Amino acid sequence: MRLTVTENINEYYVQTLCLLFFPNERFSKAEADDPDAPSADVKLTESDDFAHAEVTLSRGGKTVTRSHDEPMNGNSIISDARKTAIGKAFFEAGKALTGIKPLWGILTGVRPSKIALKQLFDGKTKAEARAELSRELLVSSKKASLVTDVAAIEKKIIKKVPERSCSVYISIPFCPTRCSYCSFVSVSSKKLLTLLDDYLSKLVIEIYECFDMIKRLGLTVSTVYIGGGTPTTLDERQIKILLDAVISCVDVDLLEEFTVEAGRPDTVNDDKMKILRASGVTRVSINTQTLNNDILNAIGRRHTAEQYFNAFDASKKAGIKFINTDLIAGLPGESYESFSDTVDRIITLRPDNITVHTLCIKSAADFAQNAKIMKTGSDTEKCVDYARDASKKAGYVPYYMYRQKNTVDNLENVGYTLPGAEGLYNIYMMEEIHSVFAVGASAVTKLVSRDGEHIERIFEYKYPYEYLSEDRTARSAEKAKKITEFYSNVW
Ligand code: SF4
Repeated sequence: MRLTVTENINEYYVQTLCLLFFPNERFSKAEADDPDAPSADVKLTESDDFAHAEVTLSRGGKTVTRSHDEPMNGNSIISDARKTAIGKAFFEAGKALTGIKPLWGILTGVRPSKIALKQLFDGKTKAEARAELSRELLVSSKKASLVTDVAAIEKKIIKKVPERSCSVYISIPFCPTRCSYCSFVSVSSKKLLTLLDDYLSKLVIEIYECFDMIKRLGLTVSTVYIGGGTPTTLDERQIKILLDAVISCVDVDLLEEFTVEAGRPDTVNDDKMKILRASGVTRVSINTQTLNNDILNAIGRRHTAEQYFNAFDASKKAGIKFINTDLIAGLPGESYESFSDTVDRIITLRPDNITVHTLCIKSAADFAQNAKIMKTGSDTEKCVDYARDASKKAGYVPYYMYRQKNTVDNLENVGYTLPGAEGLYNIYMMEEIHSVFAVGASAVTKLVSRDGEHIERIFEYKYPYEYLSEDRTARSAEKAKKITEFYSNVW
């Protein structure tokens, strides 16, 4: 796509707006030099009173221009009037040229519920927050309802979070095989899986260091989350080593929540679930994404619907308190009928949480070579709406959500819960309520100040072989220094 912006404009923001109306467009030199590519020309002028934006969009010989004046001292919930002016002018021009009316309006961030939460904490009612989101950010009424419903539940939970609390994330970026749509760094080849024992040895040391640091800072651990990849790729002996390390660092009975992702049903068995339960794990995620076996096969999940049901049973029998199941809307080959059938069968099972993701187009491109499975993926909005309505009818409520770039139809990911079964880590992490101390390859520690205004991230190496090949002494010292400085400066 060809893009021209005046100097005072953040080009990255405009690219994000372009993708709302021209999904899959790129902004490299090749596109910039292509006279047939769609184009956007964005101008911004400012006075003391107004930010004035003018947007001209062209495609296939048709050109549309729209402008918007935004008061500099207005009450927009996007604090920057310039951004609002550009967004609103772009929205009108894009809608006129393409006929697309983005459901999330000009709200481009990944955490819309954070905005709605702020509105509620500022004293607005849900109805006022919804109206403001629609008026100021052009959010559709159904998405404004969704995000305010989520925020209302989150608000009740967040109000109870003690001040000096934190969470711990432990990363196991390994999977038994790789799903075709995966964009995560997870390692799955047989050779790399042999690294697991070495990886665990190093990780256990880091777990001790992490909890030591938390104690020194005088923080209380609210939740521990072991994620991946698929942590249950570990065998029974390895799972025990990992969980024993956690148990020796913290009284797991005092945690609000202790989660292990057991995403791939082909890694779950009775013994592993019993070990999790005996070690104090309160929550697992057993994911199937779809119950259509043809699609499971096509997307490389290497398990069947039946294996999912067996894994679910194993968790139930072991007595794990809460079970989540992830689904994906928009999978290639998945029709509305097949997706709604999956939703209905999952609801009948009554997991405590059902998380409905929308497929990322970026990752779909990884299996684009397979023409057969790229045929559909349409009707995704209808699928997402069905999941919302069917889960509501069955007593579930939306309790956390986030957006990603490049999802089909720009749709979101939503966690639904039976009342009282909310996944607390998901809320704390998504709304950046407190620090998350993260260990292991690809982990990102996120430090959050008392007022939530300052956030600092500390990144680990992405891949296990990088993590294993480095001498951790220097990195651990550096990490400890950054954490200590953060807590002495902004706490
Ligand atoms: S289970 Fe998840 S992390 Fe593992 S390969 Fe599949 S999509 Fe990727």
